[in-house]
Amino acid sequence: MDILRPIRLTQGKQAQDLARIILHIDFDSFFASVEQQCNPRLRGKPIGVTATNGRTCIIASSREAKKLGIGTGSRTYEAKKICPELILMPADFVNYWQVSKKFINICKDYSPFVELFSIDEVFIDVTPTTHLFNGLYEIISQIKKSIKEEIGEYITASFGISHNKLLAKLASGINKPDGVFEITYRNIDEIYKSAKLTDICGIGERIKDRLNKIGVTTLLDLRNISHDLLVVEFGKAEAQFLRNISEGKDNSEIIPYTQAPEVKSIGRNYCLPQNEYDKRKILQNTYELWEEISIKLRKLNKKARTLGFSLQGNIDIHKRKTYGFYFDDSQEVFHLFNNLLEDDKEKFFAKDSYIRQISVWVSSLEDSDNISLSLFDKDFKKSNVLKAVDKINDKFGDHTIRNGFLLYSDKLTTVPNGYMADKYERTKLAKL
Ligand SMILES: [Mg+2]
Repeated sequence: MDILRPIRLTQGKQAQDLARIILHIDFDSFFASVEQQCNPRLRGKPIGVTATNGRTCIIASSREAKKLGIGTGSRTYEAKKICPELILMPADFVNYWQVSKKFINICKDYSPFVELFSIDEVFIDVTPTTHLFNGLYEIISQIKKSIKEEIGEYITASFGISHNKLLAKLASGINKPDGVFEITYRNIDEIYKSAKLTDICGIGERIKDRLNKIGVTTLLDLRNISHDLLVVEFGKAEAQFLRNISEGKDNSEIIPYTQAPEVKSIGRNYCLPQNEYDKRKILQNTYELWEEISIKLRKLNKKARTLGFSLQGNIDIHKRKTYGFYFDDSQEVFHLFNNLLEDDKEKFFAKDSYIRQISVWVSSLEDSDNISLSLFDKDFKKSNVLKAVDKINDKFGDHTIRNGFLLYSDKLTTVPNGYMADKYERTKLAKL
């Protein structure tokens, strides 16, 4: 492993970049380890943590289950076939958040620049503080010790070190579990040759497939491919994003958890418990997701004017549209959604088509206060009604007051998703 050199023999901009010391800490098999920490009888056994409302989808598995090939996204019936002794545990996000908070409390002793990236991952910029602790490896060993003492002996984390967030995050995945790894300019090519494209934060399966199509299978290939070809395939902005990744460049700052992040979009994914052919049910579930998003918008005092969704099963419908007006009311949002669905109506309502995954989101957000007030009295009244509904739902639980359309549908429970795709949970955390 490379040890950070105290003196860098480079100059100018590169020296500046190299001078940063970013740590990425990622808990190993987090949800499952927390369950095993809380219940010693689960230790050493294959565990699958399931989504509270999906029930049939495994969202995290213990390292024992991972060894058998049971990972995030596995179906429970498939997993049970592989391992009949698999123990299924419903996710307990309230508990996971408690652990996360304890962890932030540990990290903040080492730097004021701690970013909670997801429920089980943090970035710490230790550039200004490393010298106070006798070096980086002393910080790492102290944090590891505190995790054992304050969170639990069964919980471990992996540490990635580099001069930016992109590479620190890649590094933490290389020596899992309980590992430490550093990426420097000296070993980056070696890592870029062997890492999977999807190991990079920002490259998902879709982008990977498109990269494969133009002959890119490693990060090193990505560096060597002509920029023009990238632009043709991905457009200018995304090509530049991929170019930066290929060169290991990332100058994004740490966003301290104390600073409420600017929410740029709000989204929600729902994995249906089975292949769903009943279109009314799908629409009801989708309505409920829109409602959840609308409530979050109003809590943040924001309105959106872009709406997008994807419905995936044996058909695949993706839509996104930006409007000339703003919205924060689920009925209106659902109406816009229905209009967008119109083009694919035949496909959607076809007897043999089913849906398994619903994703919905809104973006182009603006503070409600900045949007000129409606001249129409009915809009003003509507917003007062919505405020009253929010108050009641706040008091008696989400979805106490529901649209008549949902009367006979199952209630979806609202849970923090853990990945903070919409940063909504993070805005609450800033008040810690
Ligand atoms: Mg993790």
